[in-house]
Amino acid sequence: MSNKRDYYDMLGVERNADGEAIKKAYRKLAMQYHPDRNKGDAGAEAKFKEVGEAYAVLSDTDKRAKYDRFGHAATSPGAQQGPGYGGFEFDLSDALRQFMEGGFFSGSMFGGQTRGGPTRTRGTDLQISLKLTLEEIATGISKKIKVKRYRPCSECGGSGAKKGTSRSTCQTCKGQGQVRQVSRSMFGQFVNIQACPQCHGEGTTVGDPCARCSGDGRIREETVLSVDIPAGVANGNYLTLRGEGNCGPRGGPNGDLIVMIEEKTHEFFVRDGDNIFLSLFLTIPQIVLGDEVEIPTLTGRARLTIDPGTQPGKVLRMRGKGLKSLNGYKTGDQMVEIKLHVPGKLTTREKQLFEELKRSDNFKGIEGDKGFFDKMKEAFGS
Ligand SMILES: [Zn+2]
Ligand SMILES: [Zn+2]
Repeated sequence: MSNKRDYYDMLGVERNADGEAIKKAYRKLAMQYHPDRNKGDAGAEAKFKEVGEAYAVLSDTDKRAKYDRFGHAATSPGAQQGPGYGGFEFDLSDALRQFMEGGFFSGSMFGGQTRGGPTRTRGTDLQISLKLTLEEIATGISKKIKVKRYRPCSECGGSGAKKGTSRSTCQTCKGQGQVRQVSRSMFGQFVNIQACPQCHGEGTTVGDPCARCSGDGRIREETVLSVDIPAGVANGNYLTLRGEGNCGPRGGPNGDLIVMIEEKTHEFFVRDGDNIFLSLFLTIPQIVLGDEVEIPTLTGRARLTIDPGTQPGKVLRMRGKGLKSLNGYKTGDQMVEIKLHVPGKLTTREKQLFEELKRSDNFKGIEGDKGFFDKMKEAFGS
């Protein structure tokens, strides 16, 4: 084995390089020589195996110490009696598995092709509804929300393995995360690849589960998040907070948190898009004589002039007193519909005054002296 190159030379690192530097050097070379990138290139494959072997030894404190003392003799098959270290055979499947398991692999690395291999289950999305008042929607607001969600277990760091132990390579799939089933039929050979049922595709299994999370690698906890709501949102709008949902089991990626907007019913206002409507009840003298009244708006109280002789049903428009549109380009109006308030009870004095008005010229009903039906008969001649 003396013809083997030095592991440090293979990775291009100094003899005193730390773990991080070794990992970095390995990753760079492994990506360069990965068989997926060098289809059919035997030289690249050999290099890939070589750097993989070098990394397997130098990334392991114990193996590295032995290698430093005994050189390649420490890892050669015939070395058992010497330094007490077992045989070392590093083949391509070992190299590939190491690359996958080391977290060096990312889905997009080779142009987004989906490759087999261990996978992590993504956490589920969470959905909460957030009730907002029209006033809050008008201005936009930063809200604190309480979320109960799964986060990595602090006891085991999310691995699911009991403190001090680590996960072991799945025996069923040998760490590949998937199993192949080959079946033969008269049409030929079929290969069916599916997620390993033993490890759920993770490639590793938990031997001794963490006591705190029972091997799940995560714990449900309550968190307070701050979420910024833009002005102009409406019922049914939602915000997606990426990565703020549940984390996946045993180190799986986070799901999202979806915040559904729910508009609270307002005491006075009814919303129609960016406009808001207000029914304003006025008394007979107010609409007959005109008045100046104070009315609510989304931003506080405002004065509104009622012209003398305003008819019930008339809608007064207050420009720009509505809601800002979600895209921020325009602002709606506040529409005020005039309604007539008719008192249910009258004092003797009030009754007298209305009796007097009733006989007065401008207060004779539209029917005048004749009844409604007499008038209709006249108009249609029947
Ligand atoms: Zn745990
Ligand atoms: Zn498995």
